[in-house]
Amino acid sequence: MSLPETHKVVRLYPPSHDIRVEIVPTPKIEHADDAIVRIIIAGLCGSDLHAYRGHDKFANSFVCGHEFAGEVVALGESYSETAAALGRPPLYATLKVGDKVVAPFTSSCSECHFCRMGFTGRCEKCLLFGSQRLSGGQAQYVRVPLAGGTLFKIPPDNVKTEEDITQWKHISNASLVLMADILPTGLFAATQLLQHPNILPALKSKPFPVSLYEGNQKAAVGANIIPLTDVDKQLTLAVIGLGPVGLCAIVSLLEQLESNKSQSTRIVAIDLLESRRTKAAEIVKKIGGVPGNGLFKTATIDEGKKIVAEWTGGLGVNAAIEIVGHNDALELAFELIRPFGVITSVGVHQNHQVPLIGKGLYDKNVSLVFGRCPVRTMFPFALELLLKRQDIFGDVGQETSLIDRVVSIDEAAESYVMFDKGLCGKVLFDPWK
Ligand SMILES: [Zn+2]
Ligand SMILES: [Zn+2]
Repeated sequence: MSLPETHKVVRLYPPSHDIRVEIVPTPKIEHADDAIVRIIIAGLCGSDLHAYRGHDKFANSFVCGHEFAGEVVALGESYSETAAALGRPPLYATLKVGDKVVAPFTSSCSECHFCRMGFTGRCEKCLLFGSQRLSGGQAQYVRVPLAGGTLFKIPPDNVKTEEDITQWKHISNASLVLMADILPTGLFAATQLLQHPNILPALKSKPFPVSLYEGNQKAAVGANIIPLTDVDKQLTLAVIGLGPVGLCAIVSLLEQLESNKSQSTRIVAIDLLESRRTKAAEIVKKIGGVPGNGLFKTATIDEGKKIVAEWTGGLGVNAAIEIVGHNDALELAFELIRPFGVITSVGVHQNHQVPLIGKGLYDKNVSLVFGRCPVRTMFPFALELLLKRQDIFGDVGQETSLIDRVVSIDEAAESYVMFDKGLCGKVLFDPWK
């Protein structure tokens, strides 16, 4: 397929707030592992705003956007049936022009230590789409480096039965953009929380560390277990920040708690914006509430503190998910958790210092889990959720939708302004509209 000489892109110019829609040369294959993807739809994300606001300094203009779904239109020389024999990741042998794909917000090789371990967000060769080093997806075309390790095929090669194929046909293109970042990130935050060793005593109704050594009955007998009370077994969680990632984290929590209906769980969801709190409440209502007749409340910061104090008799929450990426949010999480509490933070922190002091961390036995989601390895698990909850993720502009609107790429500058000021929810760009 021959590509047009030029294409349309959204470019950000230094020092900040200067978004321009431009016609530039169409990207070409530069390396044998590259793919060129024709964008179907691209997302505008809260983390695009770090550079837009000038918080993240940059010297040269660049094509924005790290969330996109598209169709492969060109492949480098590495893509052939012999790739499997060379030990390359499977997509080098199976990816074809015409395949629908999504990409994580960073490229990842699937061949280095971190990728093999499942920590693709820290791939040794990772590059962030929509940065000075790699043009992003708010465009008509994008070059994907290390595409055989980075891209995810929709549907994946293992979807073969008629029933599965039919189910995949119902996935909306708009919802695929959620796969690039926010759904895997929300799921990652929820998973890290619920799998944390300090949460297991409540989930398994066994004290620490018996909850960790389930196979070791002999030692468990010696541990002289005092039975947990119903109050001990209650799980109280806080979610701080109810943007799209926060909403995905809540949906993921509910989904993972669904398998354990005897678990009593209470979730307080905190945000400064009323519109976000309302949306969170509507989504939880639509899903059917917190499994096991649990409680869900949305709150402002002060209300959140009061609710946690009331619910827990002043103990604090077992764990908090911090999604804002701001020191105030981290401080709030620290304040809300009880001793041996867990904070999972997936917000993009830019500050040189965090407001936590060593004595405070020690005295509260704080577990702090920080950082970027390994989106590529979370993909298959996030996709299951995306398929299952198309009622939430598939819609645009509804009361319970994570995506507020799909606009033409020509409306990029106005959309950035509105999104930055909180005047609209998540915006997607259709570059062909
Ligand atoms: Zn994003
Ligand atoms: Zn890697």
